Amino acid sequence: MSIVTRFAPSPTGYVHIWSLRTVLYNYLFTKQNDGKFLLRIEDTDRSRYVEGSIENMMNVLASVWLIADEGPNNPGANGPYLQSERLDIYQKYIKELIADDKAYYCFCTSERLTELREEQQSLWLPTKYDKKCRYHSVQETEDLLKEGKDFTVRLKVPENIEVSFVDGIRGKITIPSKDVDDQVLMKTDGFPTYHFAVVVDDHLMWVTDIIRWDEWIPSTPKHVLLYHAFGWEMPRFSHVPPLLGAGWKKLSKRTGDVSVESFLEKWFLTEAILNYIALLGWNPKTTEEYFTISELIERFKLSDVHRAWAVFEEDRMEWFNAHYIKNYNTQKLWDKLETYLHRYDSTFLNKILAFPAQYNLKILAELQTRLKRLIDFKELTPFFYDDPTQIDIDLFLNEKMKIESVEDVKNSLRLALKVIENSDIDVTNPESIKDTFIEKIKEAEMKNGQVLWPVRVALSGEKFSPGALELIYILGREKSIERIQKTLKVI
Ligand code: GLU
Repeated sequence: MSIVTRFAPSPTGYVHIWSLRTVLYNYLFTKQNDGKFLLRIEDTDRSRYVEGSIENMMNVLASVWLIADEGPNNPGANGPYLQSERLDIYQKYIKELIADDKAYYCFCTSERLTELREEQQSLWLPTKYDKKCRYHSVQETEDLLKEGKDFTVRLKVPENIEVSFVDGIRGKITIPSKDVDDQVLMKTDGFPTYHFAVVVDDHLMWVTDIIRWDEWIPSTPKHVLLYHAFGWEMPRFSHVPPLLGAGWKKLSKRTGDVSVESFLEKWFLTEAILNYIALLGWNPKTTEEYFTISELIERFKLSDVHRAWAVFEEDRMEWFNAHYIKNYNTQKLWDKLETYLHRYDSTFLNKILAFPAQYNLKILAELQTRLKRLIDFKELTPFFYDDPTQIDIDLFLNEKMKIESVEDVKNSLRLALKVIENSDIDVTNPESIKDTFIEKIKEAEMKNGQVLWPVRVALSGEKFSPGALELIYILGREKSIERIQKTLKVI
């Protein structure tokens, strides 16, 4: 049977970074097995529904290339993909369970259930339904239904059996059925509970492998019992361990951004996000760290996902990002930058698009080795797009380089001006810039830093920037002369 997996989010907000890892593991496992990956939206809990979140989730997954083979946007044979559109299906299956005496009507009011729970809690007992309605006679049940009493439907959990399943990551898990509640399958409003809908849908959608977060382990015996009750073949379960934030704290909005969208907005490359996330919990059994998505598809092994908790560190993800940025083809990286800017900062994009394409490419090529995130491009480049507005003399002085007075600064700048104005130098060629400068500085019996430091500051106006020679190459002859002259006038 071919592999079918699914991601089944509830539309309650963003795609979090820990859900992304689950999606990625599902995706890798599916693709390496030539299977099918489905997206199903579990939206039966209307009170938690967040407007717009389904579209948002699908957009985010598309941005990180994890597109389901079937889902609300690209339906196939297994739809509908929104549980709220499958209510008739759940009704049909709940009736089947009742008819087979595997489930029963429960007429207990919420007041009674609250009282029961409070009583159990006061006695330090596990909170469970006391099965009152399970023992109604057929006649009693019929009478209550006729009276029009509100009801839920509960699973008749078999007594004194062992419920087991083999988890792909944790191995065999067994619990006695006496510890499983007679769970509600259908609520009074006719909506199924998560436990019921998930089993019916996974079965009807031919899901063979359920890969999900391990907070669902306690629910799995309930699902196993439902598969037994229906007489359906069980899928394989693999529960992925949790992802924690720095300091082993629960990842949450409070510990920083956790939505995938926020990382895309900070202009992390998809390659870096996926590579880093894949390694959080999966052991590739090698010292290699960089894997493209196709390498991940080839190498990933579900059985090599470890049980231990993994810690998500944004700094570490930045490190992966810097690696991918550095190794990108500059033109391709520019296209990416343009796409990001188009989406997140069109004002800045319009500003830089007013400059020649070659100029922008030169800047990006220069910065590529030091960008940790694409957003740093904007922070690191203001002086390429605007003339420095303030000239801070302290930035020019540098004891170590023997630039101790304004006069020293002026001497260096005058020399540089002469070199740049000289027609021997080819400012479109980095080698020519370097060689000419070194030669002329030597002739003047000065030190490289002594000349180049103030030139760098005059051209950038900043404490940190690329070196003077790189700036001259990028800014060109005219602009470099203009800025140096202006500095000489002002200081
Ligand atoms: N709707 C559940 C969630 O949002 C899905 C759990 C599962 O994968 O079974 O976590």
